[in-house]
Amino acid sequence: MNLLEKEDLIKVKAEELESASPEEIIRWAVETFPNITFACSFGAEDVVLVDMLQKVSPSTDVFYLDTDFHFKETYETRDVMADKYGLEFVRVSPQISVDEQIQQYGDNLWSVDPNQCCAIRKVEPLTRILSQYEAWITGIRRDQAPTRANSKKVEYDYKFGLVKFNPIADWTSEDVWNYIRANNVVYNPLHDRNFPSIGCEQCTRAVMPGEDPRAGRWSGNEKTECGLHK
Ligand code: SF4
Repeated sequence: MNLLEKEDLIKVKAEELESASPEEIIRWAVETFPNITFACSFGAEDVVLVDMLQKVSPSTDVFYLDTDFHFKETYETRDVMADKYGLEFVRVSPQISVDEQIQQYGDNLWSVDPNQCCAIRKVEPLTRILSQYEAWITGIRRDQAPTRANSKKVEYDYKFGLVKFNPIADWTSEDVWNYIRANNVVYNPLHDRNFPSIGCEQCTRAVMPGEDPRAGRWSGNEKTECGLHK
């Protein structure tokens, strides 16, 4: 399927899939684009999607971006999930180690220039892995951030050059937690310690009551996204 054909198909399907369940969207996605992958951050939304994928299409590749800066709880969540589902998460690493980054850019690139740090440890690895696929699935939700408010359930991702599925785009945080409880899904224990959104340890803090759920990401900095989603 060339780009024009994909754009036409997406235009038609975007409307139809808007009212479909996440499982129906995943089913259509994997049947239409067998060369598809899921990007897992081990956050609440993504553990839901791993659980759904295991029920609908367990052979679908699931990868994670290992920045080397994740919380130990995040790595433990990965290991518990891998055991539970018998799933091998594909680890995607930056081209330079933490030591090489410190040598080249100094001790605290994440605080001096977080965009550069994310470019090295997240965006380049994501670009590299997505170049191998025709479509990807994400766990983004529209109400997470203004930058995500217009996400469609299926859209063409011009930034990375492939089809993008956001099966739970219209879910609320409550929907996510209802699914986790109803299906006994493994989740990152940091969520129980006031971390609604979890990224690298250096750039994530717990939020205070009444704060925006993403206020703990790059706190004190204007940055709100890694650069993975438009
Ligand atoms: S979230 Fe922070 S530590 Fe992680 S890659 Fe981005 S700037 Fe670096």
